[in-house]
Amino acid sequence: MRVNNSIRTFRACYPILQMKASLRCLAIRVAFRAVGTLAVLGLPAKAVPVTIRAATVIDGRGGVLHNTTITVDGSKITRIAPAGAARVDFDLGNATLMPGWIDTHIHLVSHFNGAGRADSSAESTTEFILRVEGTAWETLQAGFTTVQSLGAESDKVVRDLINSGVVPGPRVLTSLTALTDKSGTREEIRAKVQKLVAAGADEIKIFATKSSRDGGAQSMTDAQIQAACSEARALSRRVAVHAHAASGAKAAILAGCNSIEHGTFLTDEVLDLMVQRGIYFNPNLANIPNYLEHKAAYQGIGNFTPEGFAEMAKDLPIRIDTLKRAMAKKVMIVFGTDAVGGLHGRNAEEFILRVRDAGQPAMDALISATSRAAASIGMGDKIGAIAEGMEADLVATDGNPLLNIEAVRKVTFVMKGGVVYKNLPPASR
Ligand SMILES: [Zn+2]
Repeated sequence: MRVNNSIRTFRACYPILQMKASLRCLAIRVAFRAVGTLAVLGLPAKAVPVTIRAATVIDGRGGVLHNTTITVDGSKITRIAPAGAARVDFDLGNATLMPGWIDTHIHLVSHFNGAGRADSSAESTTEFILRVEGTAWETLQAGFTTVQSLGAESDKVVRDLINSGVVPGPRVLTSLTALTDKSGTREEIRAKVQKLVAAGADEIKIFATKSSRDGGAQSMTDAQIQAACSEARALSRRVAVHAHAASGAKAAILAGCNSIEHGTFLTDEVLDLMVQRGIYFNPNLANIPNYLEHKAAYQGIGNFTPEGFAEMAKDLPIRIDTLKRAMAKKVMIVFGTDAVGGLHGRNAEEFILRVRDAGQPAMDALISATSRAAASIGMGDKIGAIAEGMEADLVATDGNPLLNIEAVRKVTFVMKGGVVYKNLPPASR
């Protein structure tokens, strides 16, 4: 006998974001749809496949299906077929279903404190980590089932607790800390890369140039960049490169890095080199308006000076122009927001900026956040597409983003690895 209320559902009552913790909500329900007595006895339950129907399915690889039923068994998609008359477990009505989105560049630990400032220095460890977990939850609720955090040491505990099912959140990959021009000699840099990998870094992040608020000129030497990239490659780790100036990006591309982050001042020559070498480009448009909208939260911290804000404000039109040139040259564009405090949970704003302001076709923007993003982080065979055998990471929106990109703001359903984390009732859709 099928038990209706035992469908695998991670109840959407997780309270940390709103800081309204209640013991009731802490009784998290991860219930498995199971054959009656086994579940009652508390024995390992045999999962029964779950079905989901949607009016429109965007598969993440450029395909669109209509009136389709997807079967999920355990954590994986096992069947995709035209919807029939049979009852389904989740009928998403007119919603548009896509692979769970992937944000390849966030800063999981960056958040606002109780006073609304981007300063966690006075927080207790408990408050800090709960706020970070709140960020993870907010990101998942916004439809992002996988994120790459570039990164902080404390990402590790959050990553491991999410991935082991202790707390909810998107699948996390992290670079832990990053390497900079202050990281030392070639030998010292190699040793630091080894240490990061031994500590569990999924990838390596380097700052090849200064911050955009400091003009973005190359900061690491070519020798330092080569040391970091070659050591990471030797240890089978990807390298994500923060680079505004073309010279820093070029040195990293020649040294064998995998992606250029920001890329504000990339020249046509460097963009051509990226195409030749198969390097991903992640222009991160959304973080600039986020900083400008949340000036009061950042002002006075580090290089968030009036001059720094003025420098940054100049960058958005430049970055949009660079993205347009990159698209014309068919550089592999991936989705990433550089999300910090203020942008978590609003990561989808990046889609709108790219489509509305940079002219990226909506389908390409969605591919950049699904199959292409998955390939860029070495997970193309597991996530980023609605296809049989892939992890059941799914997001549905009220409205079709191919017709109106602003639909990405209206996420109604989120599943990660076969577990439902959001399912708004039809009245709120
Ligand atoms: Zn960043």
